Amino acid sequence: MRRKLVVGNWKMNFTASAASKIAEEMVPKMAEFTSVDISLCPTFLSIPGLEIALKGTNIAVGAQDVFWLESGAFTGSISATMLKEHGVQYVIVGHSETRGRFGKLDTPEDTVLYFAETDRTVSLKISAVLAHALIPILCVGETLSEREAGLTDEVIRKQIHGALDGTSPDHLAIVVIAYEPVWAIGTGKTCDASEADRVCGVIRATIEGLSSDAGLAVRVLYGGSVKAANAPELFGKANIDGGLVGGASMIPDEFAAIVKAAN
Ligand code: PEP
Repeated sequence: MRRKLVVGNWKMNFTASAASKIAEEMVPKMAEFTSVDISLCPTFLSIPGLEIALKGTNIAVGAQDVFWLESGAFTGSISATMLKEHGVQYVIVGHSETRGRFGKLDTPEDTVLYFAETDRTVSLKISAVLAHALIPILCVGETLSEREAGLTDEVIRKQIHGALDGTSPDHLAIVVIAYEPVWAIGTGKTCDASEADRVCGVIRATIEGLSSDAGLAVRVLYGGSVKAANAPELFGKANIDGGLVGGASMIPDEFAAIVKAAN
């Protein structure tokens, strides 16, 4: 039986002091949910504060990104070793906002080059995270135009193969995959629960194609406008093992209700 996992992605929100305060507020609200894994992913600067605030609790510290090398002339980057030193256990890799979402959607021209993740860099990051005994949360998902063109499953399979081909079965079983349709992130539009379940099934079958044991073990999350109101239906689906939650994870009572649904 796979243990459910709910991850809060705080993106570029909260100063370090505000993040610690919210994390402290979350602790008593989450304490009773012992049948689910929980993680919060703040900005890099807030990680040391959350390491202290969440020590000895059932909430793990996560990070929103990582670079694949140990050290060197990589301005603005952070290594898995640096994250691990501060108690990080989960690392989000290949979020649509770092994959180049702003290059794919109708957004102002001056944001187009902010992020430029490719399947290759995602794959290098996954390997680095696994090599440091951390748990990667690999994000995959189609844009609205890809969905409308009937390319959803093809896009998902390509992203999974691009990120995970060559990964050992033992490591594959540790990876968490988050199905995050780009059109549902931060938009308030949730993917229909049955369709989210279907795509999460495609993800599991794709992993099974790489390793049958890993296919059964891998945890597949849904992400995209998850709220307390829709979490019970989503988490009740056979192929959905929890959620990657953005906006709603910043509101302690709302996030607690989402975690409760997974518990
Ligand atoms: C996300 O950032 O991964 C996400 C799913 O955001 P939201 O829940 O706000 O749509």
